[in-house]
Amino acid sequence: MNKGLIFVISGPAGSGKGTVVAALREMLPDIGFSVSATTRAPRPGEVDGVNYHYISRERFTEMLDGGEILEHTEYCGNFYGTPKSEAVRVIESGRDIILEIEVEGALQVKRLLPEDTVTVMLIAPDRAELERRLRGRGTETDDVIKTRLQRAVTEVGLAENYDYVVINETGKAEECAAKLLSIVKAEHSKYSRMKSTVEAYSAE
Ligand code: 5GP
Repeated sequence: MNKGLIFVISGPAGSGKGTVVAALREMLPDIGFSVSATTRAPRPGEVDGVNYHYISRERFTEMLDGGEILEHTEYCGNFYGTPKSEAVRVIESGRDIILEIEVEGALQVKRLLPEDTVTVMLIAPDRAELERRLRGRGTETDDVIKTRLQRAVTEVGLAENYDYVVINETGKAEECAAKLLSIVKAEHSKYSRMKSTVEAYSAE
């Protein structure tokens, strides 16, 4: 059986990644996803075990040392990481998985599993719109917003390391998700991934 593919989707803060990925999941109900571990506090409305596993820095370090984390980063003072066992189990069973992670982690996964990983960066149409979206969220202090904006701009600057860059136009999350869906389909049709099927023709 073919292994599943890992679709790494990075959306710098303000890219609207959450809404787009939720729409993509509706289009691909069988796709696996991974709940990350983080040391940041839950935002209002977020649920432990659903949005993230909210854990202490001590526990995070323990998981890192124990090799239980596939990739990780420190982002705005908090650790974020993908627990290894669940992600590996999903792709070994032949299902694709989506990892919604930032640039540093995305590149770690690509380096670790280059044949199985497809990286996509989702971006806001321009910098002004990015800032509007960050301020509009209204749950963070000005300092945090500035840090996030700065990091988002730096992250977009690293887009050259990605396989795909997709713009999320304001109010068009469905359209954006449809673009991601076409990437998922196209990646499965790559010759390298269809090779065994093609070769089976000549073997008969
Ligand atoms: P937030 O605090 O807004 O939920 O997430 C901040 C950033 O951390 C986002 O860019 C998000 O994609 C990223 N992130 C969330 N989980 C992980 C993870 O497991 N690994 C990495 N590398 N980044 C993550």
